[in-house]
Amino acid sequence: MTFQELGLAPKLLKALEAVGYTTPTPIQQQAIPHVMAGRDVQGIAQTGTGKTAAFALPILHRLAASPKRPGPGGCRVLVLSPTRELASQIAESFQDYGKFMDLRSTVMFGGVPKGRQARAMQMGVDVLVATPGRLMDHMADRTVRLDSVEILVLDEADHMLDLGFIVPIRRIVQHIPAQRQTLFFSATMPKEIGTLAGQMLKNPAQVAVTPVATTAERIEQRVIHLETSRKRAVLFDLLMSDVKGRTLVFTRTKHGADRVVRHLSEQGLASAAIHGNKSQGQRERALAEFRSGKCRVLVATDIAARGIDVDGVSHVINFDLPNVPETYVHRIGRTARAGADGIAISLCDGEERAFLRGIEKLIGQKVPVMQAPGAPAPQQRAA
Ligand code: AMP
Repeated sequence: MTFQELGLAPKLLKALEAVGYTTPTPIQQQAIPHVMAGRDVQGIAQTGTGKTAAFALPILHRLAASPKRPGPGGCRVLVLSPTRELASQIAESFQDYGKFMDLRSTVMFGGVPKGRQARAMQMGVDVLVATPGRLMDHMADRTVRLDSVEILVLDEADHMLDLGFIVPIRRIVQHIPAQRQTLFFSATMPKEIGTLAGQMLKNPAQVAVTPVATTAERIEQRVIHLETSRKRAVLFDLLMSDVKGRTLVFTRTKHGADRVVRHLSEQGLASAAIHGNKSQGQRERALAEFRSGKCRVLVATDIAARGIDVDGVSHVINFDLPNVPETYVHRIGRTARAGADGIAISLCDGEERAFLRGIEKLIGQKVPVMQAPGAPAPQQRAA
């Protein structure tokens, strides 16, 4: 199937050519016709499946079909995103796909001053992408009004739940006209999310791609068993030997991420960290350096990494194993975006063995063991 066959407006096809997409991904093939037809959609898809374009393209198609401007402070499309990184990426996607349209869009999230965001809303916009907390601030300030929203998108709903955003979302939705189209995306459907979807959606079309556990099948996985104290040295050795490509290193904590970056830099290897304690500017700089290849190692915590959109990550290294098995699958899935395969290596100390067992149960396979690079053979070590 092609984008043309989906019936998207010529301006969108031109933009897709410019970004180099040739074939719709499975979630796009499933969701685009329903969204174009004006139906509510409940989608199960994680980041990396092309879900942003799955909603952004048909939304833009609908906007183009009935151009109008909302009043001051208003928007026609509201996209709610759990994190600022994801919000920025969604806003960028709308701009990329809508670049041949007369599209007005903006993004708002916390951690930066509100003034510019408020000014961007003064004339009204077609598309507003926002994190829930900052959006509520603007609603209280009366710099944003939601009575002209025609399409509401809730992205990464399960992540919203993790971050405690369900109550704010319910409040926000009360301000949006009941007569609207709603698109609801989540990587998983825990009970609370199912309930929320049931309340927000009307007769939704259900679309789903790759259940979380099967993503893992496409990725070459390895685990290195070692003592905690050897992790940093082994990470460095890996990065100097087997692991040559663009690499995402995951740590459980922000401080852990900073320590890893410090250790690598002491050894002369440049890397950057991205996590919740970094300013927006620092995060953007780190991402830009990673994207451009200026530094090939990005050290991230789970929350910070969830929304990062970087193509061509060849390796994921789990410096710490996550205690939630699904998180492991999300992490390693970062190497397999848009169909590419990757390699994931986990450093597992004695205390993390139990986490590894949980992960292996979820993905339905044993993760093969590898030796640390340069590690002496077991008998030599004993000597
Ligand atoms: P997402 O799941 O929306 O975060 O998208 C994952 C990545 O796939 C992003 O880098 C997109 O730019 C890319 N992408 C989305 N749709 C396509 C497509 N049809 N062909 C190639 N790449 C795509």
